[in-house]
Amino acid sequence: MTAQKSDVLIVGGGFMGSASAFFLCQRGHSVTLLERDQIGQYASGVNFGNVRRQGRHLAQLDLANRSWALWKRLPQLIGEDLEFLPSGHMRVCYDEALIDDLHAYAAAPEARELDLEVIAGKALHERFPFLGPEVRGGSYAPHDGHANPRLAAPAFARAAVRAGARVEEGVEVLDVQKVAGEFQVTTADGRLFTAANLLITAGAWGSKLSEQFGEAVPLETHGPQMAVTEPVPYSLPTVIGVYTKVPEEVIYFRQIERGNIVIGGGYRSRPDMLTRRAHVEPRSTLNQIQQMRRLLPAAVNLNIIRVWSGIESYTPDSLPVIGASGKVDGLFYAFGFCGHGFQLGPGVGDVMAELISTGQTSTHIAPFDIRRFSPAPILSSAESPSLQLTSKVL
Ligand SMILES: Cc1cc2nc3c(=O)[nH]c(=O)nc-3n(C[C@H](O)[C@H](O)[C@H](O)COP(=O)(O)OP(=O)(O)OC[C@H]3O[C@@H](n4cnc5c(N)ncnc54)[C@H](O)[C@@H]3O)c2cc1C
Repeated sequence: MTAQKSDVLIVGGGFMGSASAFFLCQRGHSVTLLERDQIGQYASGVNFGNVRRQGRHLAQLDLANRSWALWKRLPQLIGEDLEFLPSGHMRVCYDEALIDDLHAYAAAPEARELDLEVIAGKALHERFPFLGPEVRGGSYAPHDGHANPRLAAPAFARAAVRAGARVEEGVEVLDVQKVAGEFQVTTADGRLFTAANLLITAGAWGSKLSEQFGEAVPLETHGPQMAVTEPVPYSLPTVIGVYTKVPEEVIYFRQIERGNIVIGGGYRSRPDMLTRRAHVEPRSTLNQIQQMRRLLPAAVNLNIIRVWSGIESYTPDSLPVIGASGKVDGLFYAFGFCGHGFQLGPGVGDVMAELISTGQTSTHIAPFDIRRFSPAPILSSAESPSLQLTSKVL
């Protein structure tokens, strides 16, 4: 069998794999991207479309800031804008006690670039008169916004192809191993690909591949719930999301310029990983309608015209896996994005390209190291305390 060779082989053509392919080509690598189904078919193509930094784990903000800078430059970078509108994001709460949390987040040094403004009471309702009377406070992020997820991964994959990448759809990777200093990847259609570096961006299926190198990740899969209304005149440019400790109250919406209001949140479903389908829970749609009445009373009579879900993977600490393998040189991971990966897509691609090219990255990704899921190392008494501290941080 003749092997097909490249510098970097990427498994998984969601947003992460497609963006990585593009940025790797820009750095002069030969790149092959293999996608089992269609580019952007899963989470990357069906998500809510929030391009939001505020509310993220503070450890993610350095990466989210890098990504945001790329979102702004997309037309120059890839020739398409993905309908990105930096139209502001508002994180609101019903419980006055939570306004302190919004202030604390806004004051965190990591959130400095977000220029957050916490607004409460009368001032809030004067500025956002469409919000329901139960809303007590909110944090406004002027630079965040939203984009069209259906466009994202295919646009990056097309740009990668123009930059020299080989992108193949309908090719499932079954076996990955490193033999005599090179990665050997076998596909379901019986082909062999080899590469000096291997990047696994297989989303909810990432651990199936990382475990072949002894680095399993305890991923859980869930199906976030989405709905969209009939179109009405465009009047709500700001994305609104509820910050709450009550699961039913978690809801968010955005209006697209064509007029439809996209709604997300509520009870997530359990995807069927055999058929690769994530179903809509009717109780979730009903809950979204009820919660929208509180948040945006004017939407009470709008018809829901479509509902959907998608397969997303979640780690126990709600942080993704990004970075080099702890076991195998030349092996890299970017998966397990816990419902927050869309905004990060361009940044992840850029960081992975930097890391694979140079062996390091200027962006803070240490908290996302895959070694945090390895069984705790057994330290001998001769090992120094500083070594113990390092292994805890990872
Ligand atoms: C309904 C929903 C709403 C969301 N809303 C938001 C949001 O508003 N904002 C936000 O930031 N994030 C959001 N997310 C999360 C975001 O969509 C994901 O974190 C992100 O798209 C993950 O991208 P990915 O490339 O890692 O994974 P995926 O898009 O799942 O791509 C992985 C790809 O790998 C392929 N693959 C897997 N195994 C193999 C194999 N063996 N061989 C070849 N190919 C393989 C799969 O076919 C798939 O195409 C949402 C997710 C969902 C599901």
